[in-house]
Amino acid sequence: MNQDSRHIVIAGAGHAGGSAAAMLRQFGWPGAITLIGEEPIPPYQRPPLSKAWLKGEATAESLALRPAAFYPDATIDLRLATRVTAIDRAAKAVTLSDGGTLRYDYLILASGARARRLVLPGAGLDGVLELRSAADADRLKAALRPGARLAVIGGGYIGLEAAASARALGAEVTIIERENRVLARVACSILSDFFQGFHRARGVTIEVDAQVAALEGSGGRVAGVRLGDGRLIACDVALIGVGAVANDELARDAGLTCLNGIVVDLAARTDDPAIFAIGDCTSRPLPLYERIGRLESVPNALEQAKQAAAMICGKPPPTPEVPWFWSDQYDLRLQIAGMPFDTTEIVVRGDVASGKFALFHLTADGTVQAVEAVNAATEFMGGRRIIARRKRLTRVRIEDMSVSMQELAT
Ligand SMILES: Cc1cc2nc3c(=O)[nH]c(=O)nc-3n(C[C@H](O)[C@H](O)[C@H](O)COP(=O)(O)OP(=O)(O)OC[C@H]3O[C@@H](n4cnc5c(N)ncnc54)[C@H](O)[C@@H]3O)c2cc1C
Repeated sequence: MNQDSRHIVIAGAGHAGGSAAAMLRQFGWPGAITLIGEEPIPPYQRPPLSKAWLKGEATAESLALRPAAFYPDATIDLRLATRVTAIDRAAKAVTLSDGGTLRYDYLILASGARARRLVLPGAGLDGVLELRSAADADRLKAALRPGARLAVIGGGYIGLEAAASARALGAEVTIIERENRVLARVACSILSDFFQGFHRARGVTIEVDAQVAALEGSGGRVAGVRLGDGRLIACDVALIGVGAVANDELARDAGLTCLNGIVVDLAARTDDPAIFAIGDCTSRPLPLYERIGRLESVPNALEQAKQAAAMICGKPPPTPEVPWFWSDQYDLRLQIAGMPFDTTEIVVRGDVASGKFALFHLTADGTVQAVEAVNAATEFMGGRRIIARRKRLTRVRIEDMSVSMQELAT
């Protein structure tokens, strides 16, 4: 039984919210914790939804962030299928979709992001899907069978991962991308070309510079994607993967500063001292790059959960991490450390054609800002250390495979 009457409410039971609840207990928070999630299942990992889970290679148990018994064991009151609908900052209380009200001493907003919707004729047809939740993944999985035709609108990471998984299941896949290359928003052209070539070699059709005019159907079900140039890409299922939008409405309605996400500092504090925000719903400082930005990644969700839990429990703040991210497609593991802001040069270490290489992004003075590594874990790990230390490197040394990553990083 808790002796401490203080109460933390966490709005959003995803990767960030679930992790924050666990870290609060780990850091010794003695009061009550209520974790509220609108989805009907306990916190789970989203990355497998476009990878192992879609291919049928993961179990529901392996998706879960923690075993179901963890929450009662840690006296975390997990309320599922419940939404936080409003924040009353003056009363320090939240309203719930079941009509209830909960008072808080601290509120942690961990509401994540949602798939961006496209306003298109036919977007409401059956078989037009998105991929954000386990329920979305189940719908997509049910439609993918040998010979099924999948049209993926958007050549970002989720679209490419879903395409690779669909190919593994024997589906026919067409990726429709508005820009002149896949991954245009998030990767350099060398990486885009590599992934484009890899997907095409595995039977994926990729249409670039392609506008989508409408989704067309028959009998209420999608049958094709009509392109701006008039062509029809016939399909049995269409996946829209055009990015995500921060769920920051609760914070905005409560008057907290939001700028493409809830604005927080490096302790995950909003501009209300009783309210923290973590994960995909935030816009956060990127100290290495002297910018603020939104990071949609598991490492970021964990880092900010730790920042909030440490601050609330009076522990020292964690050292800021180099942002990192990964993507699995076929037998390729892409790992990205850092962000390529203000860079003027890209240096290739290894051989792109061999499928094992790393791209180092340098500023004019040789500072390494980011490393994109394909099947090159050593380069990724070393790259993180190099970026954290703000090391400057020359093209010649990076390219020279006789110089080890250990030597480059120290
Ligand atoms: C298909 C897919 C593949 C991915 N692959 C990778 C990868 O390979 N590597 C990587 O680093 N990242 C990946 N990500 C991103 C990663 O999963 C997210 O960055 C991470 O889940 C963010 O955690 P979060 O808790 O902030 O948000 P979420 O996990 O989205 O959780 C937010 C939760 O809050 C709930 N919620 C929202 N509003 C309310 C409310 N008002 N009241 C109550 N509950 C609410 C939502 O329903 C949701 O359950 C992937 C994401 C997807 C969708």
